[in-house]
Amino acid sequence: MAQAQVAGKKQMRTPIESGCPDGMQFMHPLMVKNFGNWKYHDRPRPGVLHHVAYSGDEIWTVRVGTQRQLGPYEINLLCDIVDKYGEGHVRFTIRSNLEVMVSKWEKVGPLIQAFNDAGYPVGGTGNSVTMISHTQGWLHCDIPGTDASGVVKSLMDELYEEFIKEEMPNRVHITTSCCQINCGGQGDIAINIQHTKPPKINHDLVANVCERPSVVARCPVAAIRPAIVNGKPSLEVDEKKCICCGACYPPCPPMQINDPEHSKLAIWVGGKNSNARSKPMFQKLVAAGLPNNPPRWPEVATVVKKILYTYKKDARDWERVGDWVERIGWPRFFELTGLPFTKFHIDNWRGARNSLNASAHIRF
Ligand code: SF4
Ligand code: SF4
Repeated sequence: MAQAQVAGKKQMRTPIESGCPDGMQFMHPLMVKNFGNWKYHDRPRPGVLHHVAYSGDEIWTVRVGTQRQLGPYEINLLCDIVDKYGEGHVRFTIRSNLEVMVSKWEKVGPLIQAFNDAGYPVGGTGNSVTMISHTQGWLHCDIPGTDASGVVKSLMDELYEEFIKEEMPNRVHITTSCCQINCGGQGDIAINIQHTKPPKINHDLVANVCERPSVVARCPVAAIRPAIVNGKPSLEVDEKKCICCGACYPPCPPMQINDPEHSKLAIWVGGKNSNARSKPMFQKLVAAGLPNNPPRWPEVATVVKKILYTYKKDARDWERVGDWVERIGWPRFFELTGLPFTKFHIDNWRGARNSLNASAHIRF
């Protein structure tokens, strides 16, 4: 500042950055040094990646599963292990595994031992069931219908052995989502909330809390209309049209759709984003109406394990869940897994002209 004033120049304001900081500054020095110059990589054991650079440098990455929601105690514990047995550099994967980089193979064994002693498994690489990805609306979002992170923790406890080993036909990506409409992704197996009844409207609150045109605009099937109820401006829902998606609840919490009994969990199968060996695929519904039953969601765990172990037994090497189902066909999938096939599995769009918002006038 003093220098700028002496030079008679105007001091420029430092820009305020609100995005992610530049990741390079946090990377392991060997990764910065060899950035873009890697020769090959392999996996010496489950949970450990090994990268070799053209310069001859080598780096080992140890992948660790966590309980997903980390408090200060867990973060301090993990960072102490990284400082003592690693080299002080960590990163989180998009599935929230912790990865620790070291420059010597001799450091890998003690690092794994320290994590295991503290109760943290090492795995999640290659043909394993890696950490389940989930949305964490229960902590910060305004529309969750379930605690997706809780489903992750209880399921990963049951799939522990599949995380630390690489014994699946191909990698298995499981996803969960805490509402029915937004950020859940395509997964080999996906566990998503499923509302089964139209919203109950608290008419006393609508006029005070909701901007009614925004709520009307939100509905994908034009099932909401403005209405006057008990002399107050409110809304009404055409329950024959409503597909129970829950989209009206975020802009208008009095459209109460969450329900301990009628908000259920559904399981979808066969989605993938990758282009390897076959095109990306959309997941399909295979089980619906499972109880949203915290804290361990046993009914969901039973169905997921049934699908997973049938896939493990029946799929050919390198088939993803979707590839396997495409090969054997959906009838055989239901036969092998023993899951009931119901009318809710039929994708019936013949009535779409009447039941969907298909007009150019009211699409938003
Ligand atoms: S899935 Fe829905 S509730 Fe969960 S974080 Fe995303 S928008 Fe929010
Ligand atoms: S739940 Fe979905 S379909 Fe039903 S009224 Fe609300 S926005 Fe429309």
